[in-house]
Amino acid sequence: MTAQSIATAAYIVASLMFILSLAGLSNHESSRQGVLYGIGGMALALVATFGLVVDIADTTAVVLLVVAVVIGALIGLWRARVVEMTGMPELIALLHSFVGFAAVLVGWNGYYEVEAHGGSAEFTGSLLKIHHAEVFIGIFIGAVTLTGSIVAFLKLSARIKSAPLMLPGKNLINLGALAAFGVLTTFFVIRPSLGLLIAVTVVALALGWHLVASIGGGDMPVVVSVLNSYSGWAAAASGFLLNNDALLITGALVGSSGAYLSYIMCQAMNRSFLSVIAGGFGIVAASGEAADYGEHREISAEDTADLLREATSVIVTPGYGMAVAQAQYPVADLVRKLRERGVEVRFGIHPVAGRLPGHMNVLLAEAKVPYDIVLEMDEINDDFAETSVVLVIGANDTVNPAAAEDPSSPIAGMPVLHVWEAENVVVFKRSMAPGYAGVQNPLFFRDNSQMLFGDAKDKVEEVLRAL
Ligand code: NDP
Repeated sequence: MTAQSIATAAYIVASLMFILSLAGLSNHESSRQGVLYGIGGMALALVATFGLVVDIADTTAVVLLVVAVVIGALIGLWRARVVEMTGMPELIALLHSFVGFAAVLVGWNGYYEVEAHGGSAEFTGSLLKIHHAEVFIGIFIGAVTLTGSIVAFLKLSARIKSAPLMLPGKNLINLGALAAFGVLTTFFVIRPSLGLLIAVTVVALALGWHLVASIGGGDMPVVVSVLNSYSGWAAAASGFLLNNDALLITGALVGSSGAYLSYIMCQAMNRSFLSVIAGGFGIVAASGEAADYGEHREISAEDTADLLREATSVIVTPGYGMAVAQAQYPVADLVRKLRERGVEVRFGIHPVAGRLPGHMNVLLAEAKVPYDIVLEMDEINDDFAETSVVLVIGANDTVNPAAAEDPSSPIAGMPVLHVWEAENVVVFKRSMAPGYAGVQNPLFFRDNSQMLFGDAKDKVEEVLRAL
């Protein structure tokens, strides 16, 4: 048995473990097991690859591999330890950019190994032409993923504005880049050259940047999932070039599951899948911003406690601000106290509240909020009209009535929690600043809304004391 056949067998087992991992991750009870399968599959694939390199008996290659794995593992462990939950999506975006970068390097390496010498013994005739195309496709998907993920990282970490970049003729720019890719690939397959390779890399880097820059903040959850899919296809393309089954299968798994997840998310957010993957195709610049909504009113923690004392039913709608302030613990105490007084209290959770799917559910579970009072948006949206008080804790875009009422709003059509239908709404946030999508929220100016300014944790604790 050769090292190659052992590695191939190990890769197939690893791939099966990845499939089991995905299956495990699809529900709460088995998710821990799913993660373990994933770790196991990854470890097996690494050992198999290590075995292959050792078999070549090239000391430099072995040393390089060990050094790379150790450095990568140390950085990975450190980042995973220190990352806050609120920083998770940006970390994921950054990791996607690494996959894209690796695919670009693999593509360039493929060129220097084969095309730069006019071919190789392994690749002749039409096989060589297929290799030319593989190099180009791998570099293209990888470079789009690389810059697209970097822009997503910069937007998610608030290093650049999350509002969509609206270049004139943005759809034409995207279509032009795709057409350029087609033409360059054709020329490269006929006669490969370094100039064409540089050209396709530049076009793809620019396209990735532009695609994600054109998508607005409210749609970022879908973008992260789309980039996840792209990173999968980039890995699959590298799998073809490196003739590596594990990479090919894993890439296809990530690519297709990411695409399906993006599709489900688009349906939940009432967004067109094609529009999102085509960099906001068909979305025109929205005006919504300039409107004058009038004056907002403020409320103190004591008066909020009075409102709650009178209330018969309360709904809490948490958002990103609750996570940042780590206000889930006093919120859970407040809810416990109100329930002891006989008030009906429930939570309304928006599918993209916070910065990652399920973010709020995890925080509330951490603070030991009973699961049966935590309801999904669709389960609770009809009940706001019969609710005495809604406490909006650090949420903004997810409770913005403009999404439902103003067709010119950048988040028009996105389903939101209908908090404004309640008798009283108290919004806990620090200022009048807009939410992640960068859109003003008319809720704050409604007659039944009052603002309780300050850090969500401090303010909830004050309300709790006043109660
Ligand atoms: P938003 O980002 O719309 O609003 C959060 C609000 O919290 C801000 O307006 C901010 O106001 C307030 N806030 C911040 N820190 C504090 C604090 N310490 N105390 C009190 N308030 C605070 O959050 P939502 O959860 O409503 O909406 C999520 C948004 O994020 C959506 O646009 C969604 O598309 C996007 N997104 C979601 C992802 C997901 O998978 N869930 C992934 C990526 C993006 P102020 O500064 O005045 O305090």
